[in-house]
Amino acid sequence: MIKDRFGREIDILRISVTQQCNLNCPYCHREGETSIEPVMSPAEIAKIVSACAKAGIKKVKITGGEPLIRKDICDIIAKISHIPGIEDISMTTNGTMLKDKAQDLKKAGLKRINIGCDSYTSSILEKTAGKIKPAVTAAKDAGLDTIKLNMVVLKNINSNDIQKMIEFSKKSGAILQLIELIETKHNKQFFNGHYYPLKSIEKELASKADKIETRSMHNRKKYHLNGAIVEIVSPNRHEFCANCRTLRITSDGKIKPCLMRNDNLLDIVSGIRNKIPDRELNSLILQGIEKREPYVR
Ligand code: SAM
Repeated sequence: MIKDRFGREIDILRISVTQQCNLNCPYCHREGETSIEPVMSPAEIAKIVSACAKAGIKKVKITGGEPLIRKDICDIIAKISHIPGIEDISMTTNGTMLKDKAQDLKKAGLKRINIGCDSYTSSILEKTAGKIKPAVTAAKDAGLDTIKLNMVVLKNINSNDIQKMIEFSKKSGAILQLIELIETKHNKQFFNGHYYPLKSIEKELASKADKIETRSMHNRKKYHLNGAIVEIVSPNRHEFCANCRTLRITSDGKIKPCLMRNDNLLDIVSGIRNKIPDRELNSLILQGIEKREPYVR
């Protein structure tokens, strides 16, 4: 297992496959990307994942933009699933296109899925009934497990819906992930109006929980509540960065050591296009890992 300079084991690759999205939520961090450069081909993505696997990466999370916008998404997953050393492929999606694609994604090699449930326009509960429920059903029918519901908690928008989302998660068997809003250069006004710290929610969950687990990833707490499971993701806390196990790749083929920074990217896809030897690609991945630093100290 490879470690960075801060002793953090790196076994997860978060790879963005497009910057396009059919929702364009005003608060979205877009995985820290600002690029509008062309995206990578499935073969280029596979080559990068292969180099990462040689460095010790075992799990791949596919993200975007909205990954299901890509017509070749199943090809991307199939290629990654054949790479020696890769044990797990998951995806985060807004779920709007999942109903028709879940079976093919599973067949291609996808194992787990996170479905975005936050909404800034309509009530989250309306959205859950209308769009999320069919997406969860499709994911279940396809045999994807685990299914997680990602909910960025937003003050005055959905912060009063948490209890109902816990009930929905219990009924559907999906894990609810409550995510704290991250501030970016582009969402400052939104952040100031809608940031909702999760400490008080965590206290309440802790007082009601049958069991509390702590995951090594970000030191996240997982609360078991009478059949429901709720996980807390607090990217603004020191422990999130201190326990980050993720290397990132941008949709235009750059190694991105940290979600919050764009001043330490390393171009890797140009190397692939220029046919540099595999050992140089491997060395670029190691350089990317070397550049990792906790953002929140
Ligand atoms: N479109 C896909 C989706 O909806 O999952 C993938 C991209 S989206 C950037 C990935 C995850 O980031 C989603 O769960 C989303 O809710 C979360 N997210 C987006 N903006 C965020 C922010 N400012 N703070 C915290 N989480 C955020």
